[in-house]
Amino acid sequence: MSEPIALLSVYDKTNLLDLASGLHGAGVRLLGSGGTAKKIREAGIPIKDVVDITKAPEMLGGRVKTLHPAVHGGILARSIPSDEADLKAQQISPISIVVCNLYPFTDTIAKPNCTLADAVEEIDIGGVTLLRAAAKNHERVSILSDPADYAEFLEQWKAGNGDVGQATRSKLALKAFEQTAAYDEAISGYFREQYASSNLPKERLAGSVQRTPLRYGANPHQKPAQAFVTSGELPFKALCGSPGYINLLDALNSYALVKELSEALNLPAAASFKHVSPAGAAVGLELNDVEKKVYGVDDLKEPLTPLASAYARARGADRMSSFGDFIALSAPCDLATARIISREVSDGIIAPSYSPEALEILAKKKGGKYCVLQIDPAYKPGDIETRQVYGISLQQRRNDAKIDADLFSNIVTKNKEVALPYSLHDTRYSPHPVGIQLTNDALTDLIVATLALKFTQSNSVAYAYRGAIVGIGAGQQSRIHCTRLAGTKADLWWLRHHPRVLALPFKKGVKRPEKANAIDLFVAGEPLEGAERAQWEALFEAVPSPLTGEERKEHAAKLDGVACSSDAFFPFPDNVHRARRSGVRFLAAPSGSVMDEECVKAADEHGMVFAHTSLRLFHH
Ligand code: 5GP
Repeated sequence: MSEPIALLSVYDKTNLLDLASGLHGAGVRLLGSGGTAKKIREAGIPIKDVVDITKAPEMLGGRVKTLHPAVHGGILARSIPSDEADLKAQQISPISIVVCNLYPFTDTIAKPNCTLADAVEEIDIGGVTLLRAAAKNHERVSILSDPADYAEFLEQWKAGNGDVGQATRSKLALKAFEQTAAYDEAISGYFREQYASSNLPKERLAGSVQRTPLRYGANPHQKPAQAFVTSGELPFKALCGSPGYINLLDALNSYALVKELSEALNLPAAASFKHVSPAGAAVGLELNDVEKKVYGVDDLKEPLTPLASAYARARGADRMSSFGDFIALSAPCDLATARIISREVSDGIIAPSYSPEALEILAKKKGGKYCVLQIDPAYKPGDIETRQVYGISLQQRRNDAKIDADLFSNIVTKNKEVALPYSLHDTRYSPHPVGIQLTNDALTDLIVATLALKFTQSNSVAYAYRGAIVGIGAGQQSRIHCTRLAGTKADLWWLRHHPRVLALPFKKGVKRPEKANAIDLFVAGEPLEGAERAQWEALFEAVPSPLTGEERKEHAAKLDGVACSSDAFFPFPDNVHRARRSGVRFLAAPSGSVMDEECVKAADEHGMVFAHTSLRLFHH
């Protein structure tokens, strides 16, 4: 049998001579491309040039060196009679070992004065082909793509008498494939920057933009920053302003939420996001007169459309937190919705489209810099999502769990159904599947609360009422802190319905954010002193007396039928007790705690309805 052949073609010549002399000593015939063969020969180790077998000189200034059937036939041939016959007919010898590493594309493009031509020349073609061919045929061929592997490989080669074993060949092949993948990613990344770099198109939705530069990342010193897709085009465009990094985190998460909300409940939906969690989210149920006042839309000239009602509810749940929000709408933005937005402090909006009058209003916000994004409603993200943390890529299946009525069918309390103190417009949404024991109204609120959690930083607990989030506790490390936070927010929201709050005698000319802050101080019962107290009092025609403990208690007792959902199980019954104090009647949480039974017992004590879901909804 003829001696085995190794083909060597390396840019990085580290450890090369040790390997070459070792292989030669083990009876391997060496073959090398120009510079590689020269270096080995100069060290006194016998080696032939690739040219000797291809009979085709290197050409095009090195662009074509090893790209030849004599080389690739020798690498790709399997140990089967037909391949062996083909080699024989063409007088090609099989190659057993390929040693190759690539031109340093990343180093070249990192140089400050690297031109496009420099970068193009640095794209290794033949080397990638060698790596891929040898890796593909790893059943027979060993591919050495990393100088760090040479020494161990040599030992194995010698010990196995020319056979390193399938496991080693497989491992080496995987490494080579990882290298070509990373190499290609570096190249496409470079060209994306060169050719796909433009601001978001204003004229077409499906523009040719794959990438958009961002001013900076999460903080001003985090430059450069960009948003891109690796194939196809970005599914959104900026109609006005330009989004920042956190704007896009908010926009993409909030749009996903409203899209799912609207699909689940067959109503338009809106969300008000801050720091990648909803401050509010709602579907478009009609507002009664008190709600219109609480949400600050009682004086709106335009009649409220279902979409405008959805945004009024989303924005009104926690007016403090929603200050400077990013808004998502599930349906085309209409005039009434734009009017509400125009009166609030907000950072941007994402929606499938805008009526001309709505766009005209929004385009005037923030001196024309208000970020208005239009997203293709038909866009579907891939099933797998990847991100990097501290240089490590993390990959997972996208959270595509469907939140619908079925999720709440396992009711574990004695109480299975409770009449609500309010009624929704049944005609406005499709009937839920039969056999579910919760009322449709409670189901609507449980779906709203649970879907909001799917897009809220964990841990999270949400309270919902009349199709809207009324309190959300996000990003807390302990569950009870989420439940308390959400409960406190719901309490403040409910106190804003108190007749004395609705009748607060504000002076003429007090601005909306000032009113929101003053009301928050009033309902929270903050003890104000000195200048702060004077400033607060100056907003009123007559200084209102604080709400008494008795008034608060009496008002709190009027709230019932609130739904509460948790993104993971309740570890202790304190969560159940706390939720009940804010009017919660319907609970949903995954089971799995050792205290499940205790939690159900607590819910039974209060006559609550508790659905155990089997779905954890952590979101980070
Ligand atoms: P050498 O120093 O041996 O002349 O070149 C080694 C480098 O050439 C290696 O990085 C290898 O990936 C690359 N290479 C091998 N074959 C070809 C080819 O046919 N065309 C190009 N452009 N590069 C090749």
